[in-house]
Amino acid sequence: MGDVIQPVRGMNDILGEDAPLWERLDCSAAGVFKAYGYDRVRLPVLERTELFKRSIGELTDIVEKEMYTFIDRNGDSLTMRPEATASVVRACLSNGLLHNRQQKLWTSGPMFRREKPQKGRYRQFHQLSVESLGYAEAEADAELIAMSARLWKELEIERVELQLNSLGTPESRNRYKVLLTEYFTANQDVLDADSLRRLERNPLRILDSKNPTLQAMLADAPSLADHLDDESKAHFEQVQTLLNDAGIAYTMNPRLVRGLDYYTRTVFEWVTDKLGSQSAICSGGRYDGLVVQLGGRDTPAVGWALGIERVVELMRMSEWKAAGSPADIYVVCVGAAARRTGFAHAEWLRTKFPGLRVVFDLANAGLKPQLRRADRSGAEFALILGDDECAAKEVSVKPLRTDEPQERMPLHAFAEKRLRSRGQKP
Ligand code: ATP
Ligand code: MG
Repeated sequence: MGDVIQPVRGMNDILGEDAPLWERLDCSAAGVFKAYGYDRVRLPVLERTELFKRSIGELTDIVEKEMYTFIDRNGDSLTMRPEATASVVRACLSNGLLHNRQQKLWTSGPMFRREKPQKGRYRQFHQLSVESLGYAEAEADAELIAMSARLWKELEIERVELQLNSLGTPESRNRYKVLLTEYFTANQDVLDADSLRRLERNPLRILDSKNPTLQAMLADAPSLADHLDDESKAHFEQVQTLLNDAGIAYTMNPRLVRGLDYYTRTVFEWVTDKLGSQSAICSGGRYDGLVVQLGGRDTPAVGWALGIERVVELMRMSEWKAAGSPADIYVVCVGAAARRTGFAHAEWLRTKFPGLRVVFDLANAGLKPQLRRADRSGAEFALILGDDECAAKEVSVKPLRTDEPQERMPLHAFAEKRLRSRGQKP
């Protein structure tokens, strides 16, 4: 045997006990999105590099140092998408989905960022994201937030906190940026290297710094909330009213600025204290300028993205158990004729009882190892077939979870007696 090839650092296989949790999250999210009238779209993983430079912003961490970018054989620069919003907007524009129309869309899949891998932070990670395009009203912001809150409820995820802020319009934000730059320049001696680098290019991001030595200075920085334009202020108040009415609790975080350049007005983040420093599980906001930035007509929009790995980790902590065992019925056959009959029986049962999980033991082994596997499968019954059963046109039914004795009967009788309650297909 040669060397085993290792996976790429920061990119995980999702299997074993995790797989059912992922499935559970997918199903719940799909159900919630449907309940609010959002349509699913599936988009490519590769896009032109230009798309992300123009949307996320050239001066962000993602575009500066985290993208997986390569030159295709024809000379085009392509990038593995680091997030979904830019792709959703691109898809709307390239398919003409916004011509006099609004769109409410959701999508999910892998994203790629070359970050330092650690628990909850990977180089291939997965997001569920929702976007509503064409709606300027506060109800759109509130509805999206309500969808995420509903999802936590459905997944029994507790102790997550919703943090809100408003970034205002680009104009009010630019005016605030000037004040902020003045303040940080006056406090330059306190700034760390990262913040100094941001000072000229993106001073808002300094507010986001987790460096403990900066916190006192940051607490005294001018607050964005005091410099919002009137319309943004009214919009933000309306979002809060709607959340209050819906019974969704939130806290104000005036320093929440988000790492992507395209946000305007409402921004929010769901955070938890259970995942160490990878505390954000879902984040988003309004991005009224992005569609124009990507070549479309003026279209207000709002959206969020949820980190699947982090939410699955919370589900695991709240002891979400895999939904039941892998099997209901386990078919055990000994001998060629019995295997042929048993195979047909298993097919008949799956047809007759939709959703019934019937496992046919594929290994052509003896009775004992098959029964051991039947027991481990968690199935309620083993159906055993040997030459005798075949000759009599019967099966042996062995209850695996009770002390009831093994019984012989025709397959129909088993279905009638033991499975009727499961809702038979006519
Ligand atoms: P963080 O502050 O943790 O870096 P972010 O602000 O970069 O998050 P977004 O770009 O808003 O995150 O992506 C939305 C969600 O995707 C985040 O809230 C988080 O749950 C998840 N996420 C982001 N980056 C990663 C990653 N490298 N690995 C796993 N999940 C991630
Ligand atoms: Mg990040």
